Amino acid sequence: MTKALAIGPYNEDEKQALTRDLAPIFLDGSKDIANLDADTRATFTAVAYKGHHGFGAAEMDLLPNIGVIANYGVGYDSIDVSEATQRGIGVTNTPDVLNDDVADLAVALLIMQGREMEHASAWARSGKWANEGEYRLNRKVSGARAGIVGLGRIGREIADRLAAFKMDIHYWSRSEKETPGWTYHADPVSLAEAVDYLIVSLVGGPETEKFVSKDVIAALGERGILVNISRGSTVDEAALLDALEIGAIAGAGLDVFRNEPKIDPRFYDLPNVVIQPHQGSGTVETRAAMAKLQRDNLLAFLAGEELLTRVN
Ligand code: NAP
Repeated sequence: MTKALAIGPYNEDEKQALTRDLAPIFLDGSKDIANLDADTRATFTAVAYKGHHGFGAAEMDLLPNIGVIANYGVGYDSIDVSEATQRGIGVTNTPDVLNDDVADLAVALLIMQGREMEHASAWARSGKWANEGEYRLNRKVSGARAGIVGLGRIGREIADRLAAFKMDIHYWSRSEKETPGWTYHADPVSLAEAVDYLIVSLVGGPETEKFVSKDVIAALGERGILVNISRGSTVDEAALLDALEIGAIAGAGLDVFRNEPKIDPRFYDLPNVVIQPHQGSGTVETRAAMAKLQRDNLLAFLAGEELLTRVN
């Protein structure tokens, strides 16, 4: 009897490993569940989920016997966890194994903005370096003031990297952490006022919707740069676009967007934004580790053991 259902865009290596360990039925997305007949749907006890589309009560109704949803990714805001909990379904994610990659990308975005690396590269490629001379001076990154919004696992890795750049570290979290030498702000507006670079590493979901509000963006000021590697939902994107268009802040480095991958076209015309296609954890090594942790959670469940990285 088939027990596992694998939903989402798995690559060939991931499919092979899932087939080897769990022999699941594969579906491209959660909308395809309804195409399976009721008897087949009733055989599934475990779901391997990958994707940013919603997995909520309607999907759980279609899968009456599942006991676990193992998410591929640390952010599980696409899964309705309280609904799963009410039904006794365990939800797991893939924490820690991706911290380094996401923190690396955040630092890269910050430096790309500060040192204007996209523009400088275009200057050289277009022949302007040869024909018009040196690229304009930009701004020093080392020693600047950095603010982390959400000093969780990834936020802390970002802060550690920026501390190595001799930056003055400020942060907001729901509570103050044991961080000698770093400055805690209980209010995100106060944090934004105090820094040159604001890096967002919050969880997504309704509780952090537009947490980086119009007021926080305004407080960052015209020399301020916003970096977001969390979720598009955590920032008031309309307010951010307005601020970028009128120069109310200096720039942004963004890996995540509200309607990705069909992002707001206003972003494409902005010279002061570095855009990444939500690739924070997108290295071969890290994706393999995430896929393994997802499978290990499913194997633990099917063996009747404790889930390894349960979130509910
Ligand atoms: P984490 O350790 O759980 O940290 C999450 C942070 O969000 C913490 O600082 C936490 O505050 C804060 N937070 C949690 N619930 C909150 C709430 N209700 N209101 C306000 N703040 C809240 O998570 P992580 O492993 O660092 O991952 C953070 C996020 O990064 C993920 O959820 C995901 O959305 C995103 N991510 C993006 C990529 C990418 O490819 N760009 C890759 C991986 C992850 P406290 O410090 O007070 O606990």
